[in-house]
Amino acid sequence: QSATFSNGAPRKTLVILGSGWGSISLLKSLDTTLYNVVVVSPRNYFLFTPLLPSTPVGTVELKSIVEPVRSIARRAPGEVHYYEAEALDIDPEQRTVRIQSVNKDQEYTLDLKYDILVDGVGAQPTTFGTPGVYENASFLKEISDAQQIRIKIMGAIEKAASLAPNDPKRQRLLTFVVVGGGPTGVELAAELKDYVDQDLHKWMPELSQEIKVTLAEALPNILNMFDKKLVKYAQDLFRQEKIDLWLNTMVKKVDNTHITAKRGDETIEVPYGVLVWATGNAPREVSKKLMSKIDVQNSRRGLLIDNKLQLVGAPAGSIYAIGDCTFHPGLFPTAQVAHQEGEYLAKAFKKLHQVDMLEWEISQATNDKRTHLQPRLEKLQNEVENFKYNHKGALAYIGKEKAIADVAVGESQYRLAGSFTYLFWKSAYLSMCLSFRNRILVAMDWCKTYFLGRDSSV
Ligand code: FAD
Ligand code: NAD
Repeated sequence: QSATFSNGAPRKTLVILGSGWGSISLLKSLDTTLYNVVVVSPRNYFLFTPLLPSTPVGTVELKSIVEPVRSIARRAPGEVHYYEAEALDIDPEQRTVRIQSVNKDQEYTLDLKYDILVDGVGAQPTTFGTPGVYENASFLKEISDAQQIRIKIMGAIEKAASLAPNDPKRQRLLTFVVVGGGPTGVELAAELKDYVDQDLHKWMPELSQEIKVTLAEALPNILNMFDKKLVKYAQDLFRQEKIDLWLNTMVKKVDNTHITAKRGDETIEVPYGVLVWATGNAPREVSKKLMSKIDVQNSRRGLLIDNKLQLVGAPAGSIYAIGDCTFHPGLFPTAQVAHQEGEYLAKAFKKLHQVDMLEWEISQATNDKRTHLQPRLEKLQNEVENFKYNHKGALAYIGKEKAIADVAVGESQYRLAGSFTYLFWKSAYLSMCLSFRNRILVAMDWCKTYFLGRDSSV
């Protein structure tokens, strides 16, 4: 795309960091003919995270929940330039972002100049500094994590199968522990137990009965963002399905075979075979660096933004931040929030482009015409509304083809649980898929799992 529009006005460069829920929702709704659009992300695909917990055991295939950035960019009305790179450092004063290629065959570092930057780099898993987690546990954030969990599970099962039934190592290998009773931990524990009871049970009936799935949560209950009745429903189901629920249990230390946890005054040490850590989010390095450059950015939980999603303390109109990299009271780190923020920005940028065009016209006009255009400019500027989050509710899969849902319809709140809610959960997630292709692939995976069982080969 040329550097200027036909009237001579310069075309602004809009750099979007990330290819997750926030950035891709923005890209999909953006009129890309209005800006020089540049996307920078180390991940060359969008990942539909709500179904990630279903992938380590093969309920849904990884390929079904990804969509290449290139294919999304290709469908945009204007040109989109993509760098397979990560942002290392943002300079808000110079309006540059330093990026570094993640492609080993094509190494480069360069400073990209931007007029507008949208930061959608997401967050990284937090460990709260718990010793041994990075060395011994898996997370569940990216595709590589899901693959690693699958390999560890299958490896533990095969190793255990080669040991005598009374060997204590066998019992340890068959203990799968998930730390963190938020929705990620709960959904993964539920999927693991489904796999053991519904599929592994057919191939290895004795061994499958020795497998223990455990969920450790520091607070008195799991799923704290859900209504109390739904939490009780989920906890009762877990107990009924023999998922070990360790509540009030704060994991303090991990080594390659044991977890050390505090439960009240008691310290417990438990052997494990596979360990997954799901205790929430922490800011990425590039976000921390940006915070350190702006005095008013004093929250350790994420980038502070205003009601128009602009980075607080940055030059006006230059940096926006969306999704999990931000912290704003009332906005949770969910796909739902990031998606709505991305769509909001696409609309706001359309309006802001009209403002830019009018400002250009005014800069080129005679004094008389300028006075005439000024009120129109003020009107247009006021038309950029604040972001308003519309909470539609929360859903979670809790195993055995049951789900819970806290659904908001207008002012009313509905609480649903059970098998029908599972169908609702399925239809909601299908409709949330960002492409028709993903929708079809996920639906086919569910059918395959239902009729033929899970494909758990590594
Ligand atoms: P992300 O989607 O994480 O995307 C961040 C992007 O930035 C990625 O493309 C990443 O590669 C890129 N990036 C990273 N570092 C850099 C860098 N230095 N420079 C440039 N790019 C970078 N939410 C729900 O509402 N419903 C659910 O059911 C749900 N289920 C979930 C299940 C799991 C297992 C997980 C982990 C999360 C789930 N969430 C769910 C939360 C949801 O996924 C996040 O809130 C959402 O992904 C946030 O979107 P984002 O765009 O901010 O970040
Ligand atoms: P979370 O922050 O929601 O939950 C983490 C849990 O880990 C907390 O309950 C915390 O008390 C516990 N914890 C922390 N340290 C611990 C320790 N040392 N030992 C034991 N327990 C410990 O994290 P998440 O589940 O990864 O979710 C992250 C975000 O993604 C949330 O905003 C969540 O709503 C969203 N998400 C939503 C869905 C869904 O809607 N179905 C699914 C997954 C994630």
